[in-house]
Amino acid sequence: MIKILANDGISQTGVSSLTDKGFKVITEKVAQEDLIKAINTENYEVILVRSATTVRKNLIDACPQLKIIGRGGVGMDNIDVDYAREKGIKVINTPAASSVAVAELVFAHLFGMVRFLFDSNRQMPMIGDTNFKELKKSYANGRELAGKTLGIIGFGRIGKEVAKKAIGLGMKVIAHDKFIDEANITLNFFNGEKKSFTIETESLENVLSHSDFISVHVPKTGDKAVIGAEEIGMMKKGAGIVNTSRGGVIDETALMFALDKEKLSYAGLDVFDNEPNPSIHICMHNAISLTPHIGAATIEAQDRIGTELADQITMHFNK
Ligand code: NAD
Repeated sequence: MIKILANDGISQTGVSSLTDKGFKVITEKVAQEDLIKAINTENYEVILVRSATTVRKNLIDACPQLKIIGRGGVGMDNIDVDYAREKGIKVINTPAASSVAVAELVFAHLFGMVRFLFDSNRQMPMIGDTNFKELKKSYANGRELAGKTLGIIGFGRIGKEVAKKAIGLGMKVIAHDKFIDEANITLNFFNGEKKSFTIETESLENVLSHSDFISVHVPKTGDKAVIGAEEIGMMKKGAGIVNTSRGGVIDETALMFALDKEKLSYAGLDVFDNEPNPSIHICMHNAISLTPHIGAATIEAQDRIGTELADQITMHFNK
């Protein structure tokens, strides 16, 4: 029986689909430092991870019986993918499964930002019963997303999903992508009607300087931030920015400086430098809406991820 270690968990739909095909799935988490020993002792042939567990060269070298390394989600920066493939190990992921979940989280941050929900939810439990009127006044200047311009940096799967939602809300969408010149977006409505839009991408500077809100959807490559002090300098005064891609894609120090100087009004962050120990200054900043890397953490996305992984594993072993 082929044994699979799903070390960062897998949805019940994924487990059922695999066990139905005769695989044995173990979801009990093994600490990173005990992983090699566990894989070899239990003779796991497949290891599935999300973003928490890393699969580096030393593990790949020490566990020659591994046939598949699977990443539930998109970014494979926690896996030495090329090295694993060189060694004949199949490396799989589920690139499309989480786009809707991440795109919805972008709007959770955007709506929360423009009506100060992130701050209101911090203040109401502390002083809501005594300072109600003051709080009401401090959140009096909310803004609406409708009619505003959303600039999307990185117009891949998630960027395009974000564009659909923005168009549905009556926003203007402009986008920048290093490698894509134009993209077709199709909105599917509840009654079966469809409406397609073609969006031509623009220079980074154009997008930054014309947007009321920026949402970043690029992979992390190297150490240089895509949005640093210079790029923030190009943004409109009072704009907001959301990062649901990867920590380090926006320079956190430059971001806090821009918020403190009121160059930017607010930011929404799902991803951080130095996860899982993000900067306390970022976590305590009063103009940042915060979530702990939960972009893909919806039941629906996790179900899609589990099913897609199960299908790929089943196909590989011809079950
Ligand atoms: P994708 O590959 O479909 O799209 C990324 C796009 O960015 C591509 O079109 C690429 O051409 C473009 N790009 C790359 N470098 C660029 C640069 N420097 N400037 C401008 N454009 C650039 O990826 P995706 O599925 O849309 O995922 C986007 C990001 O979201 C990834 O970093 C991924 O790791 C992250 N993500 C986060 C979560 C979460 O839980 N928060 C979940 C899923 C994905």
